[in-house]
Amino acid sequence: MIDKVVKSDEEWKKVLTAVQFHVLREQGTERAFTGAYWDAHDAATYVCAACGLELFSSTAKFDSGTGWPSFWQPVREGQVATGSDGTLGMNRTEVRCARCGGHLGHVFDDGPRPTGLRYCINSAALKSVPAK
Ligand code: FE
Repeated sequence: MIDKVVKSDEEWKKVLTAVQFHVLREQGTERAFTGAYWDAHDAATYVCAACGLELFSSTAKFDSGTGWPSFWQPVREGQVATGSDGTLGMNRTEVRCARCGGHLGHVFDDGPRPTGLRYCINSAALKSVPAK
């Protein structure tokens, strides 16, 4: 089990930028093709921009053409949590950081092999840590 990180909105505002706060704590979505990582191809681990938990690896990153960083699996099982999201009149599966509960994006079932999943993640929810 991962020990949870719990902070108030005021505390999060002190450590996150306005865009990061909007995405992570208010379920916002950055505009496509505007984030830092949709076109990134470096060997890296992507950690939660809020709490630093390792979430995704560049080894499972692919070019989805959507303008958001896309992955076909999380770095390890249990690092992300999913739940149903019926907002905006759509039936989507939300993806959250398993440690701080921060909203990351959504997961769809039109991804590439081997999983067939497409984790569509906001750059603002991630921080790239170069692979050693
Ligand atoms: Fe987190």
